[in-house]
Amino acid sequence: MQKVLIANRGEIALRIVRACRELGIKSLAVYSEADIESLHVQLADEAICIGKAPGVDSYLRADRIISAAEIADVDAIHPGYGFLSENPDFAEQCESCNIKFIGPSSQSIRKMGDKAVAKDTVRAAGVPVVDGSDGPITEEKDAIKTAKRIGYPVIIKAVAGGGGRGMRVAHNDVSLRKEFHIAGNEAEKAFGNGSVYIEKYIQNPRHIEFQVLADRHGKVLHLGERDCSVQRRHQKLIEEAPSPFLTKELRRKMGAAAIKATKAADYEGAGTIEFLVDDEGGFYFLEMNTRIQVEHTVTEEVTGIDLVKQQLLIAQGEPIAFDQKHITFDKHAIECRINAEDPSRNFTPSPGCIDLYYAPGGHGVRVDSHAYGGYVIPPYYDSMIGKLITYGKDREIAIQRMYRALDEYLIRGIKTTIPLHRAILRDPAFQSGEVTTAFMEKFMERNKTFD
Ligand code: ADP
Repeated sequence: MQKVLIANRGEIALRIVRACRELGIKSLAVYSEADIESLHVQLADEAICIGKAPGVDSYLRADRIISAAEIADVDAIHPGYGFLSENPDFAEQCESCNIKFIGPSSQSIRKMGDKAVAKDTVRAAGVPVVDGSDGPITEEKDAIKTAKRIGYPVIIKAVAGGGGRGMRVAHNDVSLRKEFHIAGNEAEKAFGNGSVYIEKYIQNPRHIEFQVLADRHGKVLHLGERDCSVQRRHQKLIEEAPSPFLTKELRRKMGAAAIKATKAADYEGAGTIEFLVDDEGGFYFLEMNTRIQVEHTVTEEVTGIDLVKQQLLIAQGEPIAFDQKHITFDKHAIECRINAEDPSRNFTPSPGCIDLYYAPGGHGVRVDSHAYGGYVIPPYYDSMIGKLITYGKDREIAIQRMYRALDEYLIRGIKTTIPLHRAILRDPAFQSGEVTTAFMEKFMERNKTFD
């Protein structure tokens, strides 16, 4: 592979530029008019503007991205996360133009992208899934019937959902009737597909996901888990590896299930199998993300494996050069997502100019960010402006280091989630590792302002 187009922006585009450079592969950035000053544009070998600021006019324009790929004569397209990364039509267009889509085949994306089909696929492979409807539900009476069978509370989810949106919980027939219609309308608006399905709502679960890698030659490995239970409105804020909850035995079982699910998807590349885990260690497949994830960094720091480079090598057709027995987890890593939002004001986005920027450093600290002093954060995209990762020999050291690094991180001119992270790190429940997806709601009741 000689040249790769990066169909993304922000920190992940920069992350991919870096991996390409280390492998001696040229990178082509595509960018919107709002991102001309962005670091990924400045640091890539080449750059092409693909349209106006809004995502629908640029990073979501498959036709323009493919044209840029053809003009610049690239071998492959790396989609990053978000935007077109899980769009099977885009992957298919790449395939038909003979441009390698860095990720699985369009068929695999299609299979795992439809949450109902994904659940059926992994269930058939023997992986436990959350009890729920068989496929999408269109009639209210079928929703009620399903809820009767599996028992309340239930969660209504969009078949095409993502990013924690389009989910509604119902505790009885009355609320189910109401939420069912709201969820359908919301899903139609957000995803252009109003199909919803129903599953058992697991109370106070942990969100624990497994990183997998699969090559074209039949090798499938897992790189351990990430605990992503610190979530606000189903969106992850802090991730860590390993999970403070998993025993060796449960890790072995869940890892084996993750590999089975990956094989059932006929998968190639890096992917994530997400599970919900209950108090007793019962685990249930939630979904597969068929792309690199934001939180891949903690897995990299714990295993020492560069996941983006692995994606590029696998896309080149190379076999994975190590086996399951070579993968060890002898460190602990934590990631805090730094968002340009004001946590004291209901997380209102805070775009604008960063007057002063100083990123933390020192032993055991990694910062993945496209921000710099003088950078103007455009209002059009995701509010994440960086990821702060700390690691060390155990969880306690990673936490101490995170606390120290958060204090060092200076971002002036805009509001960020740094003060929120400092407060979470001080919380006794977080420190003892007793965190479920219900943690943040209670935490926000106890903590109203952050500074
Ligand atoms: P998305 O694709 O939008 O990210 P997911 O299916 O991955 O949606 O779920 C995101 C989060 O929503 C989970 O991490 C969990 O906190 C919550 N969630 C989803 N399904 C359930 C369920 N059946 N029971 C309890 N919580 C759930």
